[in-house]
Amino acid sequence: MAKLQRHVKALQALGDKGSSFVEDYCTFRNRELWEVRCKGCGTIIRKMLPIEELSVKRIVRGVTLIQERLALACLANYREVLIAFDDGSRHVTPMCVECATTRLQDKDLLEAVYTADLEQWKREGADISEVNASRKPNRVAKVAEQIRGNK
Ligand SMILES: [Zn+2]
Repeated sequence: MAKLQRHVKALQALGDKGSSFVEDYCTFRNRELWEVRCKGCGTIIRKMLPIEELSVKRIVRGVTLIQERLALACLANYREVLIAFDDGSRHVTPMCVECATTRLQDKDLLEAVYTADLEQWKREGADISEVNASRKPNRVAKVAEQIRGNK
């Protein structure tokens, strides 16, 4: 699948500065989202973890079997970033706390982060012509553990 020209340009701008960026930040297993990395530094920020309360323990012929239930958990370094665009619209994206609060002041990184999300939606089969793909990210409006709505 051809990359968005805009994303290629954003990555080029970061590369020229020697700034790191992780493009394929989502890992899928059996079509399920398994792990999410920070787009800025590659640190794991979400992953499948066993939920102890939901695990089932059985003893079959003297052998203990533990059936675990997994859920995609947010790790302690997980943050949601609310990006404000020049047209007044907003977009929420996940990053690690370090990149969200420091590196995202860099507008080139902000652009690369947004275009990486557009690429990811495209990979997942979304029609990105529905979103305003020409809008420009302006600034980080908010960083929080969880952002509800776009406020
Ligand atoms: Zn990071």
